[in-house]
Amino acid sequence: MPTDAVVRDQTVIAWLTAAEAAVSDRADYLTQLDAAIGDGDHGINMTRGFAAVGKALAGQGDQIPPGRALILAGKTLVSTVGGASGPLWGSALRAAGRSLGDAESFDGEQLADALDAALNAVVDLGAAAPGDKTMVDALGPATEALRARLSNGGSLAEAVDAAAEAAEQGALATVPMQARKGRASYLGERSIGHQDPGATSAALIVRALQQAVAAEG
Ligand code: ADP
Ligand code: MG
Repeated sequence: MPTDAVVRDQTVIAWLTAAEAAVSDRADYLTQLDAAIGDGDHGINMTRGFAAVGKALAGQGDQIPPGRALILAGKTLVSTVGGASGPLWGSALRAAGRSLGDAESFDGEQLADALDAALNAVVDLGAAAPGDKTMVDALGPATEALRARLSNGGSLAEAVDAAAEAAEQGALATVPMQARKGRASYLGERSIGHQDPGATSAALIVRALQQAVAAEG
């Protein structure tokens, strides 16, 4: 096992469980953000989706490798979330899971590859560029920060902390942006001055990863 390896039953399940708790705790806030520039369902969408992920994983016992857990989570999100975030997060988690494959454990570089695969899947499906005021504006900086910290010799714990910090900064940085993708783009300039709900939930999900790694480390 590589040094700094993280093992599925401690980390990926802990991540998805922490993500479920985070989006449910902040559901009202996410919905308020979406009410300002969308249709006010983002908190509900994410809460419903991640609750279904929790149920699906609970039905799998302990023997599922991390990549498979992520693929199952992704499929579950696609089938339970009606809004744009369902297919986007579903594709993201499936791509991350495919990237990890059937290995029982993975190291920081493999986690960085998995998060890059997740980001690429979101971009392939939704065609958002950086600055379009979407979840890409949180996930992009997160994957960059993760890889940068690892290549500077940082530990996995430090790298996921840097990723979570970058995602939070990225979500805040969406406030002055004009939305160019998704429902908020219909508002044109009126989307300026509001934080993007999808970038905000993405930051919660990356923070959940940091918490899972810290707790299991
Ligand atoms: P809907 O807009 O269908 O109601 P949600 O409210 O669940 O779906 O999710 C809205 C979020 O989805 C936005 O805040 C944005 O971050 C993200 N989003 C929407 N369209 C795209 C896209 N094409 N690419 C990336 N993210 C997108
Ligand atoms: Mg919405």
